[in-house]
Amino acid sequence: MDEEIKKALSRIVGEENFTDRLIDLVTYSYDASDHSHRPDAALWALHADQVSQILRLANEHGFPVTPRGAGTSLTGAAVPAGGGVVLDLCRMNRILDIRIADRLVVVQPGVVYADLEKTLAPSGFFFPPDPASGKVCTIGGNAATNAGGLRGAKYGVTRDYVLGLQIVLPDGRILRTGTGCMKSASGYDLTRLFVGSEGTLGVITEITLKISPRPLATTTACAMFQDLRNAGRAVSDIMHSGIIPSVLEVLDSHAVRVLRDKSDIVLPEGEAMILTETDGCTEGETAYQMDAIIRLFRKNNAAEIQLARSSEEAEGLWRARKAVGSAAAKLRTNNVSEDVTIPISRVPDLLTGVAAIVARHGLPFVIFGHAGDGNLHPKIMFDHSDPDQVRKVQQAVEEIFRLTCSLGGTLSGEHGIGLAKAPFMALEHDPVAMDLMRSLKRLLDPKNILNPGKLGL
Ligand SMILES: Cc1cc2nc3c(=O)[nH]c(=O)nc-3n(C[C@H](O)[C@H](O)[C@H](O)COP(=O)(O)OP(=O)(O)OC[C@H]3O[C@@H](n4cnc5c(N)ncnc54)[C@H](O)[C@@H]3O)c2cc1C
Repeated sequence: MDEEIKKALSRIVGEENFTDRLIDLVTYSYDASDHSHRPDAALWALHADQVSQILRLANEHGFPVTPRGAGTSLTGAAVPAGGGVVLDLCRMNRILDIRIADRLVVVQPGVVYADLEKTLAPSGFFFPPDPASGKVCTIGGNAATNAGGLRGAKYGVTRDYVLGLQIVLPDGRILRTGTGCMKSASGYDLTRLFVGSEGTLGVITEITLKISPRPLATTTACAMFQDLRNAGRAVSDIMHSGIIPSVLEVLDSHAVRVLRDKSDIVLPEGEAMILTETDGCTEGETAYQMDAIIRLFRKNNAAEIQLARSSEEAEGLWRARKAVGSAAAKLRTNNVSEDVTIPISRVPDLLTGVAAIVARHGLPFVIFGHAGDGNLHPKIMFDHSDPDQVRKVQQAVEEIFRLTCSLGGTLSGEHGIGLAKAPFMALEHDPVAMDLMRSLKRLLDPKNILNPGKLGL
């Protein structure tokens, strides 16, 4: 990048918010995926006007700009694949307004999920998506990737809570979408267009979020099944019983085995384990819901059912679910974790299909995930230094994507597309849809300066 451009960028944000030091550029080459590419410079923006000036300069000189929150993307979405500038939003981290009476908050994009949670706690309200990376990821990143989490089946994902946005368009224009109202039937839903667009259409500089009353009581239980099909039927029965659990997690037999072998958690053998939680206003209400779920576990021949009688016991039941990723990671030096999603009734088909695919390639794996909304995480372990294992894992992942799409599913329930899944977009989206996405990108970003190379566009 030309030194004159660097000077101009430094003038926009101030010297203290500009860097081209090698150590910083190497850091900004990465996110939480296996992808990397070094930028020419990195900037911390402090307000929307600066973002606007940066994007105008980028348009004038044709250099790429990659927005970035905490860099926890698992797909390479925050990697500056085209070089240019990383635009770090983490210093725009103020909670601008909390309006409990209107059930909303207004935040800057760099606010960390957990900080918003902490701030909202005394009010009895919360922002439910709850990604597992919540201690570090930003609300801007959550909005840009449409992040979700364990409570998706009952509470939905980030998109369901974003009421409005302030966006800086690639040409530098600043735009407001949506309203501070609980509903609106006014024109095209531009907010939804930008949520999940992975920083390819605009830079989010302010977010208005709907918040929910925090449940006051929870009940937790867990069931082990000796037959995967029975576990699948239990999930399906629960999800159309009229009870909506706040958590419905499944662990396959490989996950159960890894926990038995590689952690200190004591578990019986089994083909599938389900962890579930109900929430509500009173213990009576959550216990009533859990009774109904336990009846469905029994109806589907659960071999062992544990109901937590205290918060300590509930924590004990959660341990297996929380430990499964790290226990599995001990099996090899590297791993890839996907987040494919299928209609709920196809959960058993995906579990058995993925197991058959990965077993055929001879790699260790576990499958776990959010059965309540059909979002599963097949995690395959491999050794990056062995080209044969790398090839096998790539083949297995492609076959998993093909299977998912053939079951009417989607490549990503929460992590997004980024670089990792870009080559597979056409498996899920028909040519007309891909063409429309490319046209939208061209319309808003004709010079392709904003996060180029992502989403397969
Ligand atoms: C251990 C771990 C657990 C995870 N668990 C979950 C999970 O449970 N659920 C889930 O959904 N994800 C999960 N993730 C993935 C990741 O945390 C989410 O995608 C998160 O939303 C990314 O936020 P971030 O601030 O790190 O964004 P980044 O990784 O920095 O960026 C992600 C994308 O958003 C864009 N972006 C960021 N900020 C802006 C902005 N202000 N304007 C425009 N574009 C922007 C970037 O360009 C990039 O395309 C996990 C990741 C890790 C490492």
